[in-house]
Amino acid sequence: MTEDAAQTGGGSIAIRGLRKEFEGGSIAVDGIDLDVASGEFFSLLGPSGCGKTTTLRMLAGFEQPTDGQILIDGTDVAQTPPHKRPVNTVFQSYALFPHMDVWKNVEYGLRWDKDVPKGDRKGKVDAALELVEMTEYAKRRPNQLSGGQQQRIALARALVLEPSVLLLDEPLGALDAKLRHSLRAQLTALQRRVGITFVFVTHDQEEALEMSDRLAVMSKGRIMQLGTPRDIYQYPQSEFVADFLGVANLLDIEVSEGAGGTAPIRLGDFTLDAQVPAGHLSGPGRAVIRPESVHLEETDLTGDNRLPGMVERVVYLGSTSQVYVRLPDGSSVQSLVTNAVHDEPWSSGDACRIRMPSDALRVLEHSDVHAWSDADSDVKAG
Ligand code: ATP
Repeated sequence: MTEDAAQTGGGSIAIRGLRKEFEGGSIAVDGIDLDVASGEFFSLLGPSGCGKTTTLRMLAGFEQPTDGQILIDGTDVAQTPPHKRPVNTVFQSYALFPHMDVWKNVEYGLRWDKDVPKGDRKGKVDAALELVEMTEYAKRRPNQLSGGQQQRIALARALVLEPSVLLLDEPLGALDAKLRHSLRAQLTALQRRVGITFVFVTHDQEEALEMSDRLAVMSKGRIMQLGTPRDIYQYPQSEFVADFLGVANLLDIEVSEGAGGTAPIRLGDFTLDAQVPAGHLSGPGRAVIRPESVHLEETDLTGDNRLPGMVERVVYLGSTSQVYVRLPDGSSVQSLVTNAVHDEPWSSGDACRIRMPSDALRVLEHSDVHAWSDADSDVKAG
C-alpha cells in the first residue's frame, strides 16, 4: 500500500445492538453499540472472556451475529463474506507459510485478488515491505526471523491488500515484554502513516492506553465505558473500569448532598470535598482516587481535604515508591511517591497526613458493578 493510497478516507464502522449467543446459550456479546471513525486507532479492552474477539470476528465476517447490525462506510455487511469485506485481520499467531520467503508470503494474498493485475503485484509487495521496514529481509524464510519481524511481515501481508479497516487480535501477545514495548510504538507510527482504521483487541491496559485514540472497556459482553485513554483513566464511571485500568484506591464514602460537581462527602469521621456525579443520591457510595493524586505530607500540615494516616508499607520501585497508608476508619490507600535524591524516604510506622485534592477524588456513578470473577482476576494479575 502506498501512503497516498491510504489517505483516501473510508473505514468508518457503526455497530448497532450487536449480539452473539453461541449454541448452548453462552452469550459472548450482549448488545453493543459502537462508532469508530475513519482513520481511528480504536481498542477493545477487557479481561479474558469479555467478548472482544467475538466482536472482532463478527466485524471480519468469521462469525455471524445473533442480532444487530455492522455497517462499514454506511453499508450493512451482514451478507458480505469475509473476503469481500473491506477489512483484513492480523492474529496473534503470525501463520506465515514456512516454505515461502518473506516476499512471497506478502504477495500470496494478492494472487487471489482478481482486481490486482499481475504486473502491479511487485510494486505493492515492495511498498508493503517498506512500510513495515522489512525490505532487506525479503528473501528470508519466516524461521530466519525474530518473532517481532514475523509479526511485521504478517502486518505487511494484511496491509498489501489495502483494507479500509485492519483488525488486530492481540497481535503483540506472543512477543516478550521488551519487544512488545518497541512494537507498540512502531505499530502506532505505522497506523498514522497508512491512515486506515485499526481495531485492536487486547487485555493489556497499558497497551490500550498507550496506543489508542479511543477505547472501549468491555466486561461480560457489554461496553462498560468508551472514550479517550485519558478520559477513561481519569474519569472512570464504574468500579470495574477504575479497577481494570491502572491502580485505583476505592473508598467507601457517604455522599452528603446529592448534587453534581464539587460537593462534601464523609469518609469515616472526616468531611472532604469530592466530585459527585449529577444525579447521585445522598447516602452511601464509593469514591476513587489514583495513587499519584494521593499526596503524603508531614503531620503538622493542615487544611482542606487532609486526614491523618499511618504508613503501613513502602514498596521501593526506583524512581517511585508505593506507600500504603492506613486511614483512621481502617481503610488503606496507596500513594505513589516520586523518589527525589534529597527526599527523606517514608518508612512503615511513620505518622503522616494525606491530602486528596477535591478534583482528583471522584464519586463513582456506578459503584455496584461486577465483583471480579476468578478468571478476570487472573488476567489482571498477569
Ligand atoms: P480472550 O482475551 O481470552 O480471547 P475474549 O474477550 O476475546 O477473551 P471471546 O473469545 O470473545 O472473549 O469469548 C467470549 C465468551 O464467549 C467466552 O465466555 C467464551 O467462552 C465464549 N465463546 C467464544 N467462542 C465460543 C464458541 N465458539 N462457542 C461457545 N462459546 C464461545
